[in-house]
Amino acid sequence: MNFTQKILAWYDANRRELPWRGSQNPYHIWLSEVILQQTQIVQGTAYYLKFVETYPTVFDLAAADERDVLLLWQGLGYYSRARNLHFSAKYIVQNLGGVFPKSYRELLKLKGVGDYTAAAIASLAYNEVQPAIDGNVQRVIARVFGISEPVNAPLGMKLIREKSENLISHTHAADYNQAMMDFGATHCTPKNPKCSECPFSADCVAFTTDTVAKLPVKIKAKPKTDLYISYLVILFKNSVILKKRTDGIWLNMFELPNITEETDLSSEDVVSALKSNFGMTENSEIIDLKIEVKHVLSHLNLHIRFFEYKAISEADFQKFSSISESISCTLENVNQYPKPVVLENFFAKNCLI
Ligand code: SF4
Repeated sequence: MNFTQKILAWYDANRRELPWRGSQNPYHIWLSEVILQQTQIVQGTAYYLKFVETYPTVFDLAAADERDVLLLWQGLGYYSRARNLHFSAKYIVQNLGGVFPKSYRELLKLKGVGDYTAAAIASLAYNEVQPAIDGNVQRVIARVFGISEPVNAPLGMKLIREKSENLISHTHAADYNQAMMDFGATHCTPKNPKCSECPFSADCVAFTTDTVAKLPVKIKAKPKTDLYISYLVILFKNSVILKKRTDGIWLNMFELPNITEETDLSSEDVVSALKSNFGMTENSEIIDLKIEVKHVLSHLNLHIRFFEYKAISEADFQKFSSISESISCTLENVNQYPKPVVLENFFAKNCLI
């Protein structure tokens, strides 16, 4: 048997049962592929089921308020994925009459849909012969065929693509792509791959040359940047001030008013900066809640601290809600606003909601 026949046979015996498997509904496949990027399968499956139940068709997603989409997405991270899903759903309904693009080339025109997602949808929904190449596939191909060029550099990517285009089944493109995804995710894993029970072990270059741990080669990502965020919890009776983000990774989500620095300031300096930033008097009483959270993102280390200010009057409180993009919100209603998970946890752990 050749590589393609072996991987299809492996898939027949070992395929994962997932809720979207077998579906040829491009909208459902699109949801599953976008949700599963950078997400564990168990967590991703729960979100997929929530999305399909809440927005069963592309028309339902297009008609939704972006705030509700972000709220449903809350906790998954990489929020641009949710914003792009919503944007593209509206595009499909408004510009394409609700008809999903039917080819890899057309799918690539959707915002947020790159090579991998377009190939996955085109092959799974329409059986188009397009290899879907993600990190799992790169690892399998690099190991089996001994490709030692970095898989995240142009030459390595070209070699993996050429190999994949030669290997993909022309009669079972959907099964081939799903087989590769499952094999990489469950069998030829980054650590402790199951080489001793592998259909490729006799020919796998990495296994036969004892280089499994060295492949695939990757160029190291740039070191992460550190950012220091100091949130100010401004309270009055049962209400708190929330501020909508107008840029960055948390665009259109809600945070607390804050200052963000590239250096780690002392507690006294943060208090002083908060007062000056929000036009507070010198004798305003801001308390350091001594809560520190490190939140790691793909390119950033966020060091987050929380400070509290109890407004002295309704008028004092309301002046903060007049700051651009800020609102006052009762603590019971905080859950209605999409927030970064670090703030969701803060409100829950501190019994504020
Ligand atoms: S022999 Fe090991 S490294 Fe090679 S494909 Fe199989 S599991 Fe992966």
